[in-house]
Amino acid sequence: MIHGMKNKLLILMLISPAVLFGQQKTVVLTCDDACESHYSFVAPLLKQYGFGATFYVCEFPGMFGDSTRSMSWQQIKELSAMGFEIGNHTWHHKNLDRMIPGELDSELSYVEQKCDSLGIPRPVSFAYPAYREDPASIPTLIRHRYRTARTGGDRPWQPSTDDPLHVPSYTIKGDGPEDKKYFYQALEQAGPGKVIVFTIHGVPDIAHPWVSTPPAVLKEYLQYLYAHHYRVVPMREFVHLPTPREFISLSPSDDLALLTVFRPRKDLSKGTAVIVCSGGAYAFRFDGGEGVPACRKLQDAGITAFLLDYRLPAGNDTVPLHDAQSAIRYLQAHAKAFRLDPHKIGILGFSAGGHLASTTGTHFKNAAERPDFMVLVYPVISMADSLTHKWTRKELLGDTVTAEKIRLYSNELQVTDSTPGAFIVHAMDDDGVPVANSLYFEAALLQHHIPVQVFLYAHGGHGFSVNNKTATVQWTGACMDWIKQMKWEK
Ligand SMILES: [Zn+2]
Repeated sequence: MIHGMKNKLLILMLISPAVLFGQQKTVVLTCDDACESHYSFVAPLLKQYGFGATFYVCEFPGMFGDSTRSMSWQQIKELSAMGFEIGNHTWHHKNLDRMIPGELDSELSYVEQKCDSLGIPRPVSFAYPAYREDPASIPTLIRHRYRTARTGGDRPWQPSTDDPLHVPSYTIKGDGPEDKKYFYQALEQAGPGKVIVFTIHGVPDIAHPWVSTPPAVLKEYLQYLYAHHYRVVPMREFVHLPTPREFISLSPSDDLALLTVFRPRKDLSKGTAVIVCSGGAYAFRFDGGEGVPACRKLQDAGITAFLLDYRLPAGNDTVPLHDAQSAIRYLQAHAKAFRLDPHKIGILGFSAGGHLASTTGTHFKNAAERPDFMVLVYPVISMADSLTHKWTRKELLGDTVTAEKIRLYSNELQVTDSTPGAFIVHAMDDDGVPVANSLYFEAALLQHHIPVQVFLYAHGGHGFSVNNKTATVQWTGACMDWIKQMKWEK
């Protein structure tokens, strides 16, 4: 009894008042690039202080395989066994904004599979190589279940309000007075709701001397954190943060279609929804340039936008349509949760995404798959040799194209009396997808007495998105008016 009391008192005395009153300041330590010194110096030092940390690993080109510069996977495994977190920094440390479509998937998967084969827990934390971000990468990061993504930025992180896929950090480096001032000034920002995230490269960094930290300096910093009772933790501490973005997986499987929700302000909401499909010749989705800006325009107009991360067909023509139809079914079934009218769900698409939108509007088998309206922006409509965009056709139908498939996916030939109304945008001088695609579709709709409005530009070419710089009037205003004035009886 008495012994127990003594132990308790002793423990209480060791804990600082800040800890007792829950005001302890939090620091997240992150170490990038799998530098050799992380294994030989940083990890053992952290262990002495009982500090946690995240090691964002990659196979750094020109460095990986050289045991004097880079950790081996065996050493990474040992860090994990010591209790440190292993995060994903991509396979080749490639900048996200320089990746070709689909590349991020394989860059992430390589590290995940490597971890899996070595018994390292699947990474849940990601770090952008060279702090370079790309908004189009977000759905991929989400699909791979990354809960945080760290970047640079030199400011404190506010987990309760900041985007967890944009975690700012301070870069520790050097030993000059300015370098040290930077570290201590960053720490002064820590406080309630404000976490300081540090990025550390090699200690020292032989390969990248400009981000090198001398061992004595890191020792000084860690000693300071210890003496001042900072809580030093890995990024995975924050794995349970809710994401401010809303994502809907249309399938429990990892690699299937995803919807990103852009809700309008409550007082503006019209109960209308639009599923948005970016273009990209069915070879990629130009979300950053087309899908996301369109969703923002819709959101501002009081319309709930759902960016569809449809799967790319690679010659398997039914795949994108399947995903678009899943999205319509999902939104009809969950209309109430999103405060939507289940009969006001439209689909908007750019270029190849316009082909997908017009396919959705002409290929449905029942009401549960039918969009209530279409918005087609410089759409590919036809698969006919004289009209189509060849790259788009090749990606959708593969190398061997039959006359039957051409007919099936030439949507100007698929219009019926129950095809929904359309708002169509095109520039007359489009040299990628001829304006005739839109004009043939308009003619087909008119033949069936379907409401259609065409917004033609004299100039602008292909791919101007929501802002045709050659024009003073943008199509988006007229389009929002058209959606709001739709007659919904049909
Ligand atoms: Zn890096």
